This record gives sequence, C-alpha cells and structure tokens, in this order.
Amino acid sequence: MPAATPPALRTPGDVKPLRESLELTLDPAATKAPGRVVIAATVVRPTRVVWVNATNLAIDHATLNGAAATVLPFKPDEDFIGLAAPADLAPGPLSIEIAFTSGIDHEKSRGLYSVTEQDGTPYLYTFFESVDARRAFPCFDEPSAKIPWTLTLHVKATDVAAANAPVASEKTEGAMKTVTFAETKPLPSYLVAFVAGPFEVIDDGVAGRAKTPIHFIVPKGRSAELAWAKEVTPKVVAAEEDYFDMDYPFVKLDVAVVPRYWGTMEHPGIVAMGQPLSLIPPDKQTEERKRFYANILAHELGHYWFGDYVTLAWWDDTWLNESFGEWFDMIITDEVGPQWQYRDQRVDLALGAMHSDEALAVNAIHVPITTRQAIESTFDGEITYSKGASVLRMFEDFVTPEQWQKFIREYLRAHAYANANAHDLYAAAETSLGAPVAAGLRSFFDQPGVPRIAIIVACKAGTPPMATITQTRSLAEGVTDPQPKLWTVPVCFQTSESPRTCALISQAETKVPLSTKCPAWVIPNAGAYGYYRSAISPATLAAVMKPGTWNRLDRLERVMLLADVSASVNRGEIPRDQVMALAPKLAADKDDRVASMGAALSYFTDDALDDALHDKLVAWQLSFMAPRARALGWKRKPGDTEAHQELRRELVGDAAFHDPVVSKEAKALAAQWLKDRTGIDDDIANMALAAATYHGDAAWFDALLAAARAPRDRTDQGRILHAFGWFSDPALAKRALDLPLGKEFDLRESIGIVEGMMQRRETRDLALAWAQAHTDEILARMRADEAMWYLTSVAGAFCDRTRVDAVKALLVPRAPKIDGAELGVKRALEASETCIANTTRQLPRVRALLHAK
Ligand SMILES: [Zn+2]
Repeated sequence: MPAATPPALRTPGDVKPLRESLELTLDPAATKAPGRVVIAATVVRPTRVVWVNATNLAIDHATLNGAAATVLPFKPDEDFIGLAAPADLAPGPLSIEIAFTSGIDHEKSRGLYSVTEQDGTPYLYTFFESVDARRAFPCFDEPSAKIPWTLTLHVKATDVAAANAPVASEKTEGAMKTVTFAETKPLPSYLVAFVAGPFEVIDDGVAGRAKTPIHFIVPKGRSAELAWAKEVTPKVVAAEEDYFDMDYPFVKLDVAVVPRYWGTMEHPGIVAMGQPLSLIPPDKQTEERKRFYANILAHELGHYWFGDYVTLAWWDDTWLNESFGEWFDMIITDEVGPQWQYRDQRVDLALGAMHSDEALAVNAIHVPITTRQAIESTFDGEITYSKGASVLRMFEDFVTPEQWQKFIREYLRAHAYANANAHDLYAAAETSLGAPVAAGLRSFFDQPGVPRIAIIVACKAGTPPMATITQTRSLAEGVTDPQPKLWTVPVCFQTSESPRTCALISQAETKVPLSTKCPAWVIPNAGAYGYYRSAISPATLAAVMKPGTWNRLDRLERVMLLADVSASVNRGEIPRDQVMALAPKLAADKDDRVASMGAALSYFTDDALDDALHDKLVAWQLSFMAPRARALGWKRKPGDTEAHQELRRELVGDAAFHDPVVSKEAKALAAQWLKDRTGIDDDIANMALAAATYHGDAAWFDALLAAARAPRDRTDQGRILHAFGWFSDPALAKRALDLPLGKEFDLRESIGIVEGMMQRRETRDLALAWAQAHTDEILARMRADEAMWYLTSVAGAFCDRTRVDAVKALLVPRAPKIDGAELGVKRALEASETCIANTTRQLPRVRALLHAK
C-alpha cells in the first residue's frame, strides 16, 4: 500500500478533472444524503493514489477506471480522501466513481443544509464558498478546477428541485421524482448550488438583451412579499449587461430566497438571496429595504462576471471577486435607484477601510494563501471589500469612467469562462491604462496600509508658488511601520486659487509648481475620491471652516475633510478637544450628512470616564443634539430625503436614551409597534425599540419575549432579538444573556444581544463575564465566518487596560482555531490598544473641555 499522507492544502496536480456528474437523494427533513459522483479526469503524471477533496463523507465504494479502488484511511475533518489503484495509473483518461453519504447540516447553514420555516416545513439549500463543497460531495474543490457539472437530484415528487442549469428532464417514480439538469457552463465547485423542498416558483418574465427567463423560488405562502424584487430584478440584469456590453452569461436566472442574509451567494443561474433582503411585506416596503435588496442583488449578479464568468485561480485573488463586486454594485444601484444617491456612500466605504488599514496587523489585499485557515481571512470586509472597491474607484476616477469601463470589458472578454489571477489583471491594466496606473494598482493591492498625504505650498515673491506633496503611512501616534512603504497614488487637490488638479505621485516627496498666485488654503483630497488621509493642520482647518470657503466644498469633500480631521487627532496632529468643540456648530449644518458627521465628532469613548464625567459628556451632547432631535421627530415627513431620514435615525436614535421628551416618545412608539407593527416607519423602528428597551422593565421584557416567540417573519424576529441587547437593568440584562445559550432562538441572531451589551457601560461587565464563561460552547455552534465575526467583535469591544487584558486572555488562544479569525482578532486588539493610548493622552484636555461647559 502506498504512503497515505494527504496533501497539505491543494490537490497535487497529477490528476486534473474535466467534468463531474453528481447524483444526490435529498430529503430536507433528513440528516443524511446518499449520493454518487462520476468525475471524468486526465492523469497528467503517473500516480498510484488519486487525492480528491472530501470532508466527513462516508465513502461506500470507489472505482478508478471501473476497477475497485482502496479508500485510504482518513480522519474526521480531514480535507482529502485517497483512492489507491492496484497499480500506477498511466497518463491518459481516468474515470473516478465514488458512492458516498454526506450529512445535512441543521445548525450552521454550511455545505448541504436544511432550515425549517415557522410553519414547520424544512427546506434544503447549499452553501459551499470557499471550501465546503467537499462536505457535500467528493470533488476537486479548488477554483482553478473550473469544469462543467451535470446534476441529478432525487427528491419527493411534491418537492421543487432547482440548480445552476435548467431542468433537462423530470421523471416521477411513485412518491419520488428524478430531476436531471442540463450540463452547466464551466464552474468551480464553490459555485455549484441547488435547492429542494415544497417551494413556490414565481415567473417574472424575461430580462435584458439576452431575454433571460427569471423565476423566484420562495418558501410556500411568501409570494406576496416579492413585489419589489419582481420589479427591480430585471432592471439589474439589464443594467449589468449594458455595463459590460455583453449578454447575461448563464442561460436562466432563478432567485432562490434562502433563510438568512448570510446565505446570500452568487451561484450562477440560481442566485441565493436572503429572506431579510428579498421578502418585504407590502406594508414594510421602505426605501431602505428596497435599496438593500437592489444593492445586494447588484453585488451578487456583479459576481456573475467577477467570479463566475472569470474565476479567481486561487484564494490569494479573492479580491478579483470581492473588490470588483463591491466597486461595481454601487454603479448599478445608482443606475436602478438614482433617488437613493447611493454613490455618496463611496466615502463611507473608504472611511471604514482606512480606519482598519491604519493598524499594523493588516494584510495586503493580495497575499499568498498557503493555509486553509488563511482562505477565510481573504474575505475581509474592510480590506478586501471596502478598501479594494475604494482603490478601484479612485483609479476609475483618475483615468475617467469611460476608459476604465473599456479596460474592464477587455479584461473580462480575454478570460471568458476561464480563470484569471492578479498578474492577468495588472497586465490588462498596463495594456489598457498604461504602466503608471498598473503600478498604482499594484502599490495598493500588494501592500497594506493607507498613505497620509500632506501638501505644503511655499510662496516666494517673483517665483510661482511651489506645492510639496509628501506621503508616509498613516498610523496612530507613536506607531511606526517597521517596513516603510510608498504608493503610486493619484493626488487630486484644490486650492483657494485653482480648481481640482490631479497628479500621480510615486515618490516620498514631489514638487508641483502652481500657475496661480499664492493660495490661502489647499484641500488635498478634492472630489473625495482619494484612498488616502490628508494631513489637516489647525491653520488649514480654521481657513477652510470660514463660511466663504466651506461653501466651496461639496458635501462629500466636507465629510472627507471632517474624517481627515478625526484621523489627524488619532495621529496626534490636532488636539481632540479642539475637534470635539466643532461638533455643536457642525451638528447644526443644513446639510444632513455633514450634520451627522459633525455630531459624531462629539463622541469620546466612555470606558475611561468616571460616572460624573460621563454624565457631563452626555449633558453637553444633549445640549446641542436634543433640540434638533426633537424638531426632527420620529416620523418621516413627506419630501424628506434619505439623508434626512438617516440624520433622524442618528440624532433621534441617540437622543432617545437620555432626553426625556424623545425617550418618552420612543417608549410609546415601541409599545405600539410591538402590539401591531404600526405607528413608526420600519427603518427607524429599531431605534425606538432600543431606547424603549434601555429604559425597559420586567413587563417590557416579557412583552418582547412573547413577540420574539410569535414573530411575523425571520426579519421581524431578528429585530426583536436585537432589541434585547439594550436592557440596562442588570437583572433583565442577565435574563437577556440567557437567550443565546438556549435552543429556542437561532444563535446567529441572538448572539447580537451579547455584542450589544458589550458596547454600553451599564452592561459591559456582564457581557464580558458571559463571553468568558460561554465562548467555547457557542463557537462550536457557529460556521467559521460567523465565529470569526463574534471573536473580532469581542476583541474590539473595549478601551481600558483591565478589560482588554481579559479579552486578550480569552481570545488569543482561541482565535487560531477558527478559520480566518486570527488576523481579525489581532487587528481588533491593536485598535483597542491604540484606543487606550489615545484616550489616556486626550483625557486631560477633554476633561477640561467638559468642565468648562
Ligand atoms: Zn461578494
């Protein structure tokens, strides 16, 4: 018998798959699914053992070219099975046949999984990204193994079965039926998908230039909640075809409505969209929910090109899927719903990313992935998604959207139905956009960090003013990068004397002569497209805040400028109290976005504040926020924009905790909402519920619990469970913390209670003690990505020595055991350390500011 050492990570490459047939018997109520695969392959190099990915499958029988193969012994949770032939297999065709039984998950929504609806009916779904197809069937579970698949599903005669490709034939035999699907386009295993159960199927006509047939697949009884999805889905399909100037690439589109948001996935031909997105009761069709569905659908269908049509070759290029998907969904969302002004959120996306990218414990977007553990870490929300999208948008703006679109179209066509890697992308950029732009992309994708750009203008009589642009890495005060970096970055600046001018900067210091008279001020990120922090000196800030100048900036430039000011505080360049002091004036700004940003400048982490100082901070914030919150009120008025509603959510939501008038209104509105779900708009109900719960008593607890036990739907239940995280009374908070430990509610919804309680001074020690006692038990009940989010949220929850040390002791030994969690936990802990250092430094001046109020 040959040595039975399975490969460490990837298949050895001596056998390459060409196509795979998969047959499964699916009963959503069962815990097991028997199946059979036939893989047509080629032996590239002689080998005795064929290694195939399979995890926790029972292997009943296997053959290689028709001869019985020996299945080498394997252990639970291993990634491979080894099939040994009687003698070496010679190069040439190989048929691999395996009969197996896989498990059906009923708790984590991983692999083949089943979820029971409120009426007691179970439905079966799949979720394989990144490496969980191997839990459902044997396969070459790597994105470069991009092959056609033929599926045959045996299901109950009364069930619906759907998969990536259209149904080719259906045959009923007694109580069961056999559904065979057409062969798919070449797909990697992580994109194979199917569903089975007594679904309703709703016809939505055809869409776009390819006249693609669209169907919705929903749990029975839910079709009345599809009005918006039916209206907008064809528009998204058509808009995407137009952007790429290409027909829809996957024959048909089924929108399979899966139970949870976190089951949403870009499976070609059968996109999975969570119930909270897709199913909107007719009386809850707010603009917020409409936009949410449209945006996520635009993202998932964007992957039909970035991921499905052109597939990453390996997981070190997850960004070719996710950075591009995230960059693209904004364009399409704006196209199908211009009234949402969704493009304005590009600045928020960049700000979230820059905040994370200012830690040392951050990876480049494009890094070698050499362990299974690290695969999950490439799906980093702030870095791969938000930073990636922001960098792409910066270069799109620099080269012009028209040139960029041409580049995208050429790149995609060059790799149709095949794989691509970072090198292919950079090479395409070099050809279409030139070497400097390609170098710029590389500098942002291949190294971590965000640049800090400073512009100083020197004026000397008789010579033109000279702007000196310098770049360094933006890091918190006292932190230095052991390996200093430079970026090739398009810096676009505006001065008091000239409009926006852009220059591609690649040196540490660049001099740019100005053809104007000496400017009074310079804005380093004009247009707010730059993925960089601008150094803002107190003098510049004072000059720019003057009314005449302030009005020359557009709203996104103002938001970016205020964020730059906050970042300057963290780098120790402007004192914190000076920035906090700007809050009252800015919170009154007539632009809603600037007002919310301005109000946020008044926040100061309260971990370091004693009760007296905390009360002073709250009283000061209320002094300028409460009057505006009272005037805004809880109810949306006719003609209010989305930005106005957003400001309402923030100011009214915040004031509701401590302002007697606003909190009294919150209690009445929340009680009415809990009774019959009326009285307050759906998109602000959360804030009223939170405030009512914060002040809530035992009777309110019981009312919430009764509502959570008899929810309208999954979204409704999630909202009620979320509210439990806001109890401030210790006895009620303890009762709420028991909910995630029981089996009555989905842990993945109820865990938010713990995370919420960690954020507030009244309950944070209770929540920390809960985490210390129960983390192991709940990690065992979660999928890796959700376990990772829980751990990073705990890791970043605190800003004081004692609690951060307690969290370190809890998480540092555990994080490496959860795929993808180690780096995220390290980064969150670094942010906590930075927070402690900054808070300690800033506290004396903040104390003085508050005492002077
Ligand atoms: Zn995505």
